[in-house]
Amino acid sequence: MKLGLQSSIYNGLQLKDEINTALGQKVNAFDIFFDNWFPSDIPEETYGLLSNLKNSNDFHFTIHLPINFFELSYSEQQSFYSFIEFLKPKTITVHYNTLSYDLLKDLVNIAFDNGAQLSVENTIPNTHKIYGIDYLAYMIEAKKSLEYTESKQAFSATVDTGHSFVNGISPDYYVRELSKHEISIATVHLHDNDGSADLHQPLGAGKIDFYSFFKELKEKNQNPYLIIEHWSDFNRSIDFMYNISIT
Ligand SMILES: [Zn+2]
Repeated sequence: MKLGLQSSIYNGLQLKDEINTALGQKVNAFDIFFDNWFPSDIPEETYGLLSNLKNSNDFHFTIHLPINFFELSYSEQQSFYSFIEFLKPKTITVHYNTLSYDLLKDLVNIAFDNGAQLSVENTIPNTHKIYGIDYLAYMIEAKKSLEYTESKQAFSATVDTGHSFVNGISPDYYVRELSKHEISIATVHLHDNDGSADLHQPLGAGKIDFYSFFKELKEKNQNPYLIIEHWSDFNRSIDFMYNISIT
């Protein structure tokens, strides 16, 4: 099982403290979410920690690009590309609803060149801001648009369980549909809610059927990085994952 925690700007911790916390838990991955901040904000000391860990076989990094990545300047976007080149994360998550097919192509190339998966995430609302289509329709179109590129194997999905449920879609549906279209799920964002709002609760606190979800992932041979996307009570989600004992 590839299970990880994610950085958060709301927990009052520095990135290095978050990573050190993760190293003390039963997880083997860490997702750096650039939630309104930049690689240039990372202190030198933390770069040292990242350098020490980045080639580890037992601990992997994934990253989550800023939600407004599409509207950043060229040089700001380049700073993320340099960071990707430095860290060599396993997956790079970007939200689907603002992603043009052109920017997608660029990002898939960057991922491919760095041995990563560009992992495109479902959002709330489930409508693309440029194309007006839903997540699944976008993913199918996106796959087609990459058909004749060398880098197409670096295109994959991030299924966010909480976003899916708020949109009235059971996350196991995405596993079935993406698998049917031969789109690999490289990343999963794990958090729960009751369907009313994106509450980012621990697994089991809300109404999402995680048993069906993990059963479906296993049946479809999808083996994503499972990123626990909430900081408070993250232990509850780690325990939940070990209790349902998927491997
Ligand atoms: Zn997410």
